[in-house]
Amino acid sequence: MPSVYIKTYGCQMNERDSEAVAAQLVAKGYRLAPSEHVADVVLLNTCSVRDNAEQKAINKMENIAGAIRKDRPNVVLGFLGCMAQSRGQELIDRLPDVDLVIGTQKFHRAADYLDEIFAGKRDKIVDIAEEQGSEGTIREHLLNGNARDKSVTAFVSIMQGCNQYCTFCIVPYTRGEERSRSIADIVGECRQLVSHGVKEITLLGQIVTSYGRREKRDAWRGTSDVNRAFPSPVTRHPSPASAFVQLLEAVHEIDGLQRIRFTSPHPKGYGDDLVEAYARLPKLVESAHLPVQSGSDRVLKLMHRGYTRARYVEIIRKLRAARPGIGITSDIIVGFPGETDADFAETLSLCREVEFDNAYLFKYSQRKDTPAAAMPDQLPEELIEERHARLLALVNEIGKRKYETFIGRQMQILVEGPSKRNPVRMTGRTRCNKLVLLDGSERHRGQLMDVKITRTGSFTLYGDPAVVGFEDEK
Ligand code: SAM
Repeated sequence: MPSVYIKTYGCQMNERDSEAVAAQLVAKGYRLAPSEHVADVVLLNTCSVRDNAEQKAINKMENIAGAIRKDRPNVVLGFLGCMAQSRGQELIDRLPDVDLVIGTQKFHRAADYLDEIFAGKRDKIVDIAEEQGSEGTIREHLLNGNARDKSVTAFVSIMQGCNQYCTFCIVPYTRGEERSRSIADIVGECRQLVSHGVKEITLLGQIVTSYGRREKRDAWRGTSDVNRAFPSPVTRHPSPASAFVQLLEAVHEIDGLQRIRFTSPHPKGYGDDLVEAYARLPKLVESAHLPVQSGSDRVLKLMHRGYTRARYVEIIRKLRAARPGIGITSDIIVGFPGETDADFAETLSLCREVEFDNAYLFKYSQRKDTPAAAMPDQLPEELIEERHARLLALVNEIGKRKYETFIGRQMQILVEGPSKRNPVRMTGRTRCNKLVLLDGSERHRGQLMDVKITRTGSFTLYGDPAVVGFEDEK
């Protein structure tokens, strides 16, 4: 059978989609290739969030087509995911070497389409149609593939799409309307992963805090049957908690599962029920990624974010009260159209006020058909660069200071496996999501271990297996 190499750009959801495609192909008899140079099929799973992510994938495909096709004319080349969805046939018109373009609701068709191409039934395939029920199709894991069958952490997709329509963001157009899987379906997948040795599960979605909202709304309007969509426990325990918190409760009940994470939430979704869940559910680790985007209320309004700086800070205060020591990270966009010096100063002051453990900084990128792309006062690149550098220096300085406070402390880590950079070291994560490197061996994989933090690197901690007598900390 042919071998396949999949390269992924972008977020954890894209990583998860690629894994599901790989698992589906392996189940059909395809082999996974270690690089594009030896593969019979090369698939690029793309990201559209910023222009440079799109350009990277296009350049990569151009290089592959130039270098590989010359010697091996029968290699099948394809684009998957967000850019495939937004550009469709245009990708083949621009890069005629490309055979396959599969959009975000059609990942599960990859094996069938490759079979058709290899059988000579079809030459080029573009499928970017919507498909009802596609939210339930990202479910296969590479549990039987060599190294991955030892995975102790796994990602589980709980929903697809986004209804937020932030003015800068292309995601609602590439991923479609929000659609959630049922709790029973998600719990079934999690149980199966745990039975294969997985100890930590990260629930994934574009806006996980909106989980189940649309289904509930449709049921209210009589257009869908919420009892069927969310059979248990949503209907069994009438509860004021959001569907997302009910999902957390249901996953929390799985025996053998040690830790639960989720990403990305929206600050708007942090009602008291979710804050309270942090205080109540011990498997829900003390870590929250809360994309703030800007510290200026004026910019937040232009972005259509639906919260103010004060509300955001209040959520963080409540989370820290519910779970002292919680790790807080964020996403921030620099250079949104019309961002003034005063607006940017508000973002700097928010970072000083909140003291994020880390923040991902994005230079604003104009995206096709988004409202922000048509806003006046698009900022010059040099100004965006300059602000980005200033904010990065501040985020790094705060992060360094915070990481240094961990030296000498004892922390629990889940050991995930050998470090990619230095395989003689093992890596693990603390509950508050800090990466820890330690001298260990395969026998530590999957163990929850206490380590004493001895020093820090750049957003990394170094640990020694702890000796008894240290004060226990998260
Ligand atoms: N769930 C997240 C939220 O609450 O907004 C969205 C996830 S988005 C795929 C990841 C990050 O990309 C966003 O949080 C935002 O900071 C960044 N991003 C999205 N659109 C962008 C754009 N046009 N330019 C620069 N950064 C962008």
